[in-house]
Amino acid sequence: MAVGDEAAVKPLIGPRTRVIDLAGRLTIPGFIEGHGHLVGLGDARLALDLSHARDWNEIVEQVARAAKQVPPGEWIIGDGWHQGHWESTPQPAVEGYPVHEALSRATPNHPVLLKHATGHMCFANARAMQLAGVERQTPDPSGGTILRDARGEATGAFRETAQGPVFHARSRAQAGRSPEDREAELRKGIELAVDECLARGVTSFQDAGSSLATIDLFKRLADEGRLKLRLWVMVRGESSQRLRDALPAYRMIGYGGNRLTVRAIKRMVDGALGSHGAWLFQPYDDLPGSTGLVVETLESIRETALLAVQHDCQLCTHAIGDRANHEILDLYDAVFRSQPDRRDRRWRIEHAQHVLPADFPRFAELGVIASMQGNHATSDGPFVVSRLGKERGAVESYAWRSLLDHKAVVINGTDVPVEDVNPILSFHASVTRRMKNGKQFFPEQCMTRAEALRSYTLDAAYAAFEDDLKGTLSVGKLADVVVLSKDILTIPDDEIPNARVDFTIVGGRVVYARQ
Ligand SMILES: [Zn+2]
Repeated sequence: MAVGDEAAVKPLIGPRTRVIDLAGRLTIPGFIEGHGHLVGLGDARLALDLSHARDWNEIVEQVARAAKQVPPGEWIIGDGWHQGHWESTPQPAVEGYPVHEALSRATPNHPVLLKHATGHMCFANARAMQLAGVERQTPDPSGGTILRDARGEATGAFRETAQGPVFHARSRAQAGRSPEDREAELRKGIELAVDECLARGVTSFQDAGSSLATIDLFKRLADEGRLKLRLWVMVRGESSQRLRDALPAYRMIGYGGNRLTVRAIKRMVDGALGSHGAWLFQPYDDLPGSTGLVVETLESIRETALLAVQHDCQLCTHAIGDRANHEILDLYDAVFRSQPDRRDRRWRIEHAQHVLPADFPRFAELGVIASMQGNHATSDGPFVVSRLGKERGAVESYAWRSLLDHKAVVINGTDVPVEDVNPILSFHASVTRRMKNGKQFFPEQCMTRAEALRSYTLDAAYAAFEDDLKGTLSVGKLADVVVLSKDILTIPDDEIPNARVDFTIVGGRVVYARQ
């Protein structure tokens, strides 16, 4: 309704207006998480949290303790492990990843599925592998790897598409439950996830991939008035035929009072750097036989691209490696050229993590948005140089300064549950690139504070065609507002992580207030 000083606002205060004196605290537009997984965050909160383990042995102990609380035969799900964050390499190890024997001995009666923090790998114990039908003879599927020991036996680690059978085995077990039970669990997870986002000042969440069935549930939650934050969703994991049939009904903008928008499709060309799945032009420095994995073929992504054009949807393609980014820019370019209308499409590359310098200007030229995550740079930083070597790392990796200098729209986020959803931590990573070990990861690529704030507000809104509604505190936009305990635009770098969210306001209502 109004933004301005006291003289401008005072006449609007009525008997039922709640007046909050912020005593000079910093007030900003609500943070927009540019790429996260809402259901994944809920699942992670319902699963064993493995993200704090200091080594593999701690994880084995943690799972063994959990097994004592769970009836035999039931699946134990853990989430958030990352070998790059451990203090020591497991012994024995294959390619730096643990092998299943110790875990299998500790959990003989339970199938165990431990999801890697990146989502690009999982780890299974012997019981889970047995239920998944994984045997010595099982070949690697296309786009995935079953890690094997010197004797050729599966070690328990599954990369990319090879994870499929393990997840399917777990789904089969879950299919035995009633639809009501399954929905109740999903609702519980979503509620936990939404509350966590609001407490962190996230008022809008760009969901990087949900099925049509999950979107149905989001819609019901919106109808019931239970979607306390605003969702913008990419459709993920449906066949082309299904998308063709369903998109007319599922494409929705501002449903339920601007709570739910579905106007994008998610695809994925490669894997993650941490799990050697990123698709590169030159082999990995620490895995010289490999240039990574192609997870979904360019041909099938091209088919989706044409569907996106037809249905006026954005296409958002996960691309990590320099080759993956290059191929997707080529693909987008070819599709845009094939359409005579030069319309504003705002297609996106999710992560855009390692980009050839020659490709930096192409983002702005093509109008492609770089959807990046500040804290991926600082948590991957410690192993980037061993994967890629110093030169590639310095020039190509998380190069948001270079992209911004080439006029690209760069947005921010956390890929939660891969990283903590807290935008202040990702903001800090964006402006300092300071890693947990205290060192800075190629600091010449830092954003300014103003750029980092913009990447989390106005530019993120732009990347969802919502810049007319969100991203600034202006008359006519939604009243999504966050109040911080400290001024993150001016305090010293190392104080930024201590800033707290004091209030989160969505649509003019206080939905979170710090005690
Ligand atoms: Zn993601």
